[in-house]
Amino acid sequence: MTTTGSGEHLPPALRTEALEQLLTERGLIDPKVMNGIITEYETNVGPLNGARVVAKAWTDPDYRRRLLEDGTAAIKELGFSGPQGEHIVVVENTPSQHHVVVCTLCSCYPWPVLGLPPSWYKDPAYRSRVVREPRAVLSEMGLELADDVRITVHDSTSEVRWLVLPERPAGTEHLTEEELVPLVSRDAMVGVAKVEAP
Ligand code: FE
Repeated sequence: MTTTGSGEHLPPALRTEALEQLLTERGLIDPKVMNGIITEYETNVGPLNGARVVAKAWTDPDYRRRLLEDGTAAIKELGFSGPQGEHIVVVENTPSQHHVVVCTLCSCYPWPVLGLPPSWYKDPAYRSRVVREPRAVLSEMGLELADDVRITVHDSTSEVRWLVLPERPAGTEHLTEEELVPLVSRDAMVGVAKVEAP
């Protein structure tokens, strides 16, 4: 990439601030509305939403079927929808098939169910390496998968956001939907971890 002197080497936070100021000056955005959206996603919308979706799918076979057929609609049934969640596809992890999600281009992520992405998800190293050597990257993140487990990497885009339905861990058969919710981690729904029994 060539340098044009337009400030592209400034830290992202500074560039974002400059962009916001410019858009505000031109009357294209209202900073109060912007702040409201940011606060909402920082405090109210997070992986707990996704955990509710997963726990319901684990305990309600009909819901699980609907979720895998049309993720966006099934997620909306629980009241979760909005920006960056217009088209969510849910893929199910099984003992022989593991799914993991990345955005190779930037940091596309299903906001309504997971909130804002963690920093490692935006890290260029994760974004480039998980596609080429997923097994090694997952191992470094603490997830060892047997050699006969097939790994599929899904590239999130502005069109499609992916959510992983993790495997329900053995030994949780007696737990209710409500009791399962806190077990489901954000990382398991991105596919870089498994859900562990308590
Ligand atoms: Fe992206």
